[in-house]
Amino acid sequence: MSHYDLAVVGAGIVGLAHALAAVKRGKRVVVLERDARAVGASIRNFGFITVTGQQAGQTWERAMRSRDVWDEIAPAAGIPIIHRGLVVAARSPEALAVLEEFAATSMGRECQLLSPDVALKRFPVLRPDDVTGCLWSPHERRVESRDAIPQLTAYLVGLGMELRQNVQVRGVNPPVLETTAGKIHAETCVVCPGDDFLSLFPGRIAAYGLRRAKLHMLRLATQPTQWKLPGAIMSDLSLIRYLGYAELPAADALRKKLEREQPQALENGIHLIIVQSADGSLVVGDSHHYEYTHDPFAAEIVDSLILNCAHDVLDIPDPHVIERWTGEYASSEERLMLVDRPDDAVRIVMITSGTGASTAFAIGEEVIAELFGA
Ligand SMILES: Cc1cc2nc3c(=O)[nH]c(=O)nc-3n(C[C@H](O)[C@H](O)[C@H](O)COP(=O)(O)OP(=O)(O)OC[C@H]3O[C@@H](n4cnc5c(N)ncnc54)[C@H](O)[C@@H]3O)c2cc1C
Repeated sequence: MSHYDLAVVGAGIVGLAHALAAVKRGKRVVVLERDARAVGASIRNFGFITVTGQQAGQTWERAMRSRDVWDEIAPAAGIPIIHRGLVVAARSPEALAVLEEFAATSMGRECQLLSPDVALKRFPVLRPDDVTGCLWSPHERRVESRDAIPQLTAYLVGLGMELRQNVQVRGVNPPVLETTAGKIHAETCVVCPGDDFLSLFPGRIAAYGLRRAKLHMLRLATQPTQWKLPGAIMSDLSLIRYLGYAELPAADALRKKLEREQPQALENGIHLIIVQSADGSLVVGDSHHYEYTHDPFAAEIVDSLILNCAHDVLDIPDPHVIERWTGEYASSEERLMLVDRPDDAVRIVMITSGTGASTAFAIGEEVIAELFGA
């Protein structure tokens, strides 16, 4: 029977990030995934590796490090980087004030604040009405997650990681794991269960009081297909949601204005992200609803609100919806991520905010360094 240094539960981005960090150290790694392939949050997201807008301090630094890891492994794994950079289009004086404050922080050092004239000339896809200024950030990357996660998985298998799919882990007690495929022997285990709160360590996970965030996402085709975005697009609503902006003093006035003017968008947790795929189609989202267990229904009104926000910001030629989906991730009001230590050989790692694609690689490096010694 094979014997591993590390077993990772879950083949989403968080599990793969831990596998990558351990394989790089020469560890024998097995990743155990209960489905035939990972179909959770990691393939449903925008693939938007966001740095600017992450909470100042550790999260921003983790995003920057994770971005660098994406830059390093994407070419090796054959993962195309589809966007580099982010345009935040301010559509009110209050939003511009937030961007001005952000630009003056150390996080804004390599970003550019652009006047409306310069922004509209540089980014002609923006709808000119109401633009009060723009922030250009060079830090972001975008990958097509539904392809990138399988590509990253295959790359890790090439580096020696073992992948066992259709295997549910039922018990973790190193050096033995109980699974639906029998016992697996591993010295250590990192459990990366996404939004599964019950299969493993339910009591420990329950102590964090988690819920699930449910998000609506859409894909729009455009004509002509060569219509191109300069990078990912965000706007005013994002400035009161992403903590790197929302924790700035100027965000209070913007929040009050949006509460007055866009209450329905705020009730549905809507903020705008638009990214583009290689075929020219746009991925547009998203909304946020919070429950322990969500119903499976995706109300049309939520999609309409998201699309209205998109049309306010971009002049999209002949848009039509070609795909809709929802996704869920573990969510906490108190923390952006958690690392729990049931014993010396086991860690539970959950990203409890919508930042897994942006921060998982750095978190994986930290957890593996702590588990195996720096
Ligand atoms: C719609 C949407 C948009 C988002 N946009 C972004 C974005 O643009 N940028 C960003 O940074 N983040 C974004 N996020 C958040 C990001 O996708 C998540 O933080 C991240 O994918 C979580 O990764 P994960 O590996 O923990 O979870 P998952 O991807 O859910 O993977 C967990 C895996 O564990 C497996 N598993 C669980 N329990 C067991 C068990 N007992 N045995 C075997 N297998 C098990 C599951 O089958 C699953 O495949 C978004 C999320 C959603 C839903």
